[in-house]
Amino acid sequence: MPKTRSKPHPDISQVMIMDGQNNFPISWLNKQGYCEYSIYLENVKGIQIQPTLDMVIGTKEHARLEEDFKKDAEPATFEEMLETSKTAEILSRELPVLSVHYGIRGYIDEIWMTPDEFIIIDDKPGSRAFASSIHQVYGYCLAFKETIKPFKNKMGVKRGITAALRQRGTDNIFWSAYFDNKAELGIINLINRVQNLISRKEEFVPTQNPRKCRSCRFKRKCDKKALPGQV
Ligand code: SF4
Repeated sequence: MPKTRSKPHPDISQVMIMDGQNNFPISWLNKQGYCEYSIYLENVKGIQIQPTLDMVIGTKEHARLEEDFKKDAEPATFEEMLETSKTAEILSRELPVLSVHYGIRGYIDEIWMTPDEFIIIDDKPGSRAFASSIHQVYGYCLAFKETIKPFKNKMGVKRGITAALRQRGTDNIFWSAYFDNKAELGIINLINRVQNLISRKEEFVPTQNPRKCRSCRFKRKCDKKALPGQV
């Protein structure tokens, strides 16, 4: 596989330039759905804010699940996992995925690889399937689809991809859907929107929803905060 040339973006934190294409973390698809302006404040303006309690709990829970998983896990390459899962169900955590083409990258919380399909799971603090959470898990599905492309000949039967959201720390999968053509086209459009924000072809738009601003960790530093009464 040809080596990707990669360097940090000179002005926007967390963005890498890979083979000339801006590449952003898939978690931004979630932030974009909440409020694009928060990405601008954090990554363009460089405003640093303490993580929220939810974020701290989430990080700890990730680490705990990762430790539990490692106790029984057998190390394997990605190719070996694809091969094994042709005949048996396997599970992996924190699987790195990358699409240089679409300019996205991230880690899948958990993936079940079965002889029939791949199920991509993103853990969330609550049990409501927000559009922004669905965008994020669809982003992982797209990056995973791109990641397996070079292994197409070794995949066996064609396996579909299912996206799923699970309540953190539980087995409660509260939303799932096939990653079909419609979902794929929709998420590609959204990724293009974020790419346009990064290249400043379009402007970061602040939310008009005061409820979101009330819970936003940037509310004290934000000059575009929506006021009560404004919807
Ligand atoms: S305070 Fe409101 S407008 Fe500002 S970044 Fe947060 S959610 Fe967006």
